[in-house]
Amino acid sequence: MEDQKIAEFRGQLRGELITAQDPHYDTARKVYNAMIDRKPALIARCNDAADVVTALRFGRENKLRVSIRGGGHNAAGLGVCDDGLVLDLSPIRYVHVDAASRTVRVGGGTTWGDVDHATHAYGLAVPSGIISTTGVGGLTLGGGLGHLTRRYGLTIDNLLSADVVLADGRMVVASADENPDLFWAIRGGGGNFGVVTSFLFQAHPVHTVCAGPMLWELDQAADIMKWYREFIVSAPQDVSGFFAFMTVPPGPPFPEPLHMKKMCGIVWCCTGSMDQANQILEPLRSYRRPAFEFFVPMPFPMLQSMFDGLYPAGLQWYWKADFVKELGDQAIDLHVRHGSRLPTLFSTMHLYPINGAAHRAASGDTPWQYRDATWSSVIVGVDPDPANRENITKWARDYWEALHPFGAGGAYINFMMDEGVDRIRATYGENYNRLAAVKSRYDPTNFFNVNQNIAPA
Ligand SMILES: Cc1cc2nc3c(=O)[nH]c(=O)nc-3n(C[C@H](O)[C@H](O)[C@H](O)COP(=O)(O)OP(=O)(O)OC[C@H]3O[C@@H](n4cnc5c(N)ncnc54)[C@H](O)[C@@H]3O)c2cc1C
Repeated sequence: MEDQKIAEFRGQLRGELITAQDPHYDTARKVYNAMIDRKPALIARCNDAADVVTALRFGRENKLRVSIRGGGHNAAGLGVCDDGLVLDLSPIRYVHVDAASRTVRVGGGTTWGDVDHATHAYGLAVPSGIISTTGVGGLTLGGGLGHLTRRYGLTIDNLLSADVVLADGRMVVASADENPDLFWAIRGGGGNFGVVTSFLFQAHPVHTVCAGPMLWELDQAADIMKWYREFIVSAPQDVSGFFAFMTVPPGPPFPEPLHMKKMCGIVWCCTGSMDQANQILEPLRSYRRPAFEFFVPMPFPMLQSMFDGLYPAGLQWYWKADFVKELGDQAIDLHVRHGSRLPTLFSTMHLYPINGAAHRAASGDTPWQYRDATWSSVIVGVDPDPANRENITKWARDYWEALHPFGAGGAYINFMMDEGVDRIRATYGENYNRLAAVKSRYDPTNFFNVNQNIAPA
């Protein structure tokens, strides 16, 4: 591309424009998953919605592939593209809390750690994910599940409105009252419909939670899973817990004899008092006493960033996922078999409950079709060493192939790598055609296609 054109584009932006000639190009193109190594032609750091409009126009006029980068966490690296233009929203980073209405206005490039930090000061929280460095943009547009899902629903269930820049450069609001079809589509349909520069969320009173992991030896894993599958479907909504196979990290708070041991666990989050939480979990403690537990009252942001240190940016990640309605004995046996073979310290399997308040919405209320699922399972092979790439990928694939026949069909869109159109269709099910119709209204040329793509109808 001509230097003149690039210079003009640079002059029109408030934010920085980065090319391959810039010394920090390699840092700017990196995303969270080190398996992704894409080389965009240009990275436009957008300072505001006006920069987004300018960058989209430049992309359109020069027929460039365009990707939208929020927090850069996407498993498949959908925030970056080869040879095209990356709209890096990270400078659009702010959180404004309105304590009176308990609403939170969040910039399109903000991370969840920023949101938790700002809302905690008001004794409020917005339901999100379990790692604080994840972007608000991608997580929200895909659905958003985490510790508060059973209590207050998915992140999309708490989205009130969004400011969206469309493919043709128009700036619109999507809410129940304005462009309601677009509002429906962005609550699960990903970055297919436009660039969200600002989100407005409903927050909830959450301050100190009783939370943390309980761990058991692997020979108790089947019993724990059987207890958990009964418990979590009828537990009070202020209790959440996800089941995990994990390797115990070699450091505090874990006792030395457990370091590097493969174990199973449940990571709890109870929004009630410690007395209530202990009463609810007492039957579990007396059924199978945990080998270790770190279940204490803690500020909500502490829980939200508990795993950040274990999972810094720059590790190799390979993801496989499914929605799960029932967890039968045969599936549990297979889980224990594959979960016992975790290939590396960082690799894990999580079963996130998506029942409770997440079941209040019906399948067609948002694009999130699997409102009747009980769990979202995710198997992640993770390691810092690129030489282990094959090893972690094979383990995750083998595990998934064994369990997939027991799944509900689709998978949480934000837990998938690039798995093709059939998997995307399976995930949206009956909502797919409606999404395609909305896509044809707001992005008829499929300009936004670096995503879990929904082709225009
Ligand atoms: C360590 C880790 C833990 C995770 N834990 C959870 C969890 O607990 N719960 C959960 O629900 N998910 C979780 N996820 C998955 C996460 O939701 C997805 O990876 C999500 O895509 C990340 O969003 P991002 O903005 O950081 O990603 P990016 O890579 O920046 O963007 C991903 C895609 O989102 C779209 N996008 C992002 N921002 C915008 C925007 N402002 N406007 C329009 N489109 C946009 C784009 O299409 C882009 O291609 C986790 C991911 C990781 C890596």
